[in-house]
Amino acid sequence: MQTLEICNLTLPIGEKCILENFSLTIPPGEIHVLMGKNGMGKSSLAKAIAGHPDYPISGGEIIFRGENVTQLSPEERARRGIFLAFQYPIEIPGVSIANFIRSAMNAQSKKMETVAFYKLLHENMDRLGFDRKFSARAINVDFSGGEKKRCEILQMLMLQPSFVIFDEIDSGLDIDALKCVAENINSLRSETFSALIITHYQRLLDHIHPHRVHVLENGKIITSGGSEIVKELEKKGYACFDREEKS
Ligand code: ADP
Ligand code: MG
Repeated sequence: MQTLEICNLTLPIGEKCILENFSLTIPPGEIHVLMGKNGMGKSSLAKAIAGHPDYPISGGEIIFRGENVTQLSPEERARRGIFLAFQYPIEIPGVSIANFIRSAMNAQSKKMETVAFYKLLHENMDRLGFDRKFSARAINVDFSGGEKKRCEILQMLMLQPSFVIFDEIDSGLDIDALKCVAENINSLRSETFSALIITHYQRLLDHIHPHRVHVLENGKIITSGGSEIVKELEKKGYACFDREEKS
């Protein structure tokens, strides 16, 4: 049974079709990478997989661990183990990190006693080099870019999802923060954990070695392969794959 099977997905936004007959399979235990120029629909795909109401698909199916989740709400998908680490994490004034994570855990039947919850939260914050005082702060409000990304990883460590989409988790991170984020993603690697990493850069992939790399263009995957694709992209840019598609 595959972790994620996206079959012939069509995603319209306004007049435009962002994805057309888009298909992608991610087996259990595998980490895949999705690359592509700006505006190609990578974040839209991530939101459609998570069930974001602004990104309803008009055709195709999303099968998660053998179950058709296409019609399920974002909460129901999250309960089944899908987690999206946002490119632009949302600020929620008045809701602390601790309360936000606790509510999410309760909603996913991962309820913990208060003392045990804070012990685990603080352990994970220490692991991320994230000051414990942040747990009482309103989520993402006045956070730096790096703090927002750490906060996404903290939620992931607490919720222990079986499938994570990282949407440009590496953008705006300094080298130490990048290494820390990568180490924590690697710590989740197992035979049952899968991930889709959306990135523009080789530097994250120096720490996380993916099983497969895909390039998205004009609503479809135009090339798939190993890490050599990332190296080629760094050297030559997306134009090298444009030529491949036309020939
Ligand atoms: P990427 O992540 O690959 O840079 P996005 O998925 O963010 O691309 O965007 C793909 C295209 O869809 C862009 O042209 C963007 O402006 C458009 N788009 C994304 N979300 C919306 C939305 N909610 N409303 C209107 N247009 C959108
Ligand atoms: Mg994006």
